[in-house]
Amino acid sequence: MTAKVRAACIIGWPVEHSRSPLIHNYWLKTYRIAGEYRREAVPPHEFPAFVQSLAARGYVGANVTVPHKEAALACSQPDDRARAVGAANTLWLDGVLRSTNTDVEGFLNNLDACAPHWDRDLKSAVVLGAGGAARAVIYGLLQRGVAHIAAVNRTAKRADDLRDRFGGRVHPHSWDERNGALAEAALLVNATTLGMAGQDALDIDVGQLPSRTVVADLVYAPLETPLLRAAQRRGLSTADGLGMLLYQAVRGFTLWFGKRPEVTAELRALVQADLALPSAPAKE
Ligand code: NAP
Repeated sequence: MTAKVRAACIIGWPVEHSRSPLIHNYWLKTYRIAGEYRREAVPPHEFPAFVQSLAARGYVGANVTVPHKEAALACSQPDDRARAVGAANTLWLDGVLRSTNTDVEGFLNNLDACAPHWDRDLKSAVVLGAGGAARAVIYGLLQRGVAHIAAVNRTAKRADDLRDRFGGRVHPHSWDERNGALAEAALLVNATTLGMAGQDALDIDVGQLPSRTVVADLVYAPLETPLLRAAQRRGLSTADGLGMLLYQAVRGFTLWFGKRPEVTAELRALVQADLALPSAPAKE
């Protein structure tokens, strides 16, 4: 009798350009695990039924990407982290369908790797954006004890919503105030889509940042964004979006396949080479 192969998938709409299969299949091969990781293109109206039938489809769990992260929360039993962020990107079956948000640890672990001790005495951060990615970043920063987070967003109401969701350590700012907010920032995070291939540029003056600020960009296509380039020119430490993408994948693989995988230079080079191919940029 052949053993049943454990399988997981990424569910999105569209999903063709997701790099998650590349990452998880690399780990399956590296650790010689007889498993599979596939893409599943599922339109929004079919998503609830699809996730309820994961086991019947032979899946032990799944990643969830745009536009399903909020729906994934509603269709599962979320942990505290997913509930606080208001979005889930990782599902697993444990008698019931459970969910979490691994963008939080992806962001934090990548910063730990790129700028060790970045959070030592870190009092003030500026986060650009107010979508699901920004919420994951803000939740992670609050967990690490950051005392003051300036939340800068184009739509003012969404920045206000962040303060309502996360409390008084979050200070909403209008988009026009973004350069003025930089003078005290020990950490600057771009969690908007600006700077992504095909999107508008991010217009911000890194010259306003203190000389020891760490700059993180969640955008990973292109890998070296104009923001990161400008920060490096100033000699600031940086953390890119590809690192976050790799680190956020660790938890799902561990849950589904029972092995905690390493984020290695070889894996990073593999995904980096794929990003350099002429294809549509991904938004995980
Ligand atoms: P989202 O929910 O669509 O939010 C997009 C954000 O960008 C909003 O705050 C939006 O402002 C802002 N924005 C868009 N166009 C703008 C413009 N012209 N001027 C000013 N602000 C603008 O997206 P998301 O899911 O949070 O993702 C945000 C970024 O993070 C994406 O680039 C995504 O690829 C990246 N990401 C990376 C990882 C990773 O692992 N590296 C993981 C998750 C996400 P409004 O509120 O005013 O619309």
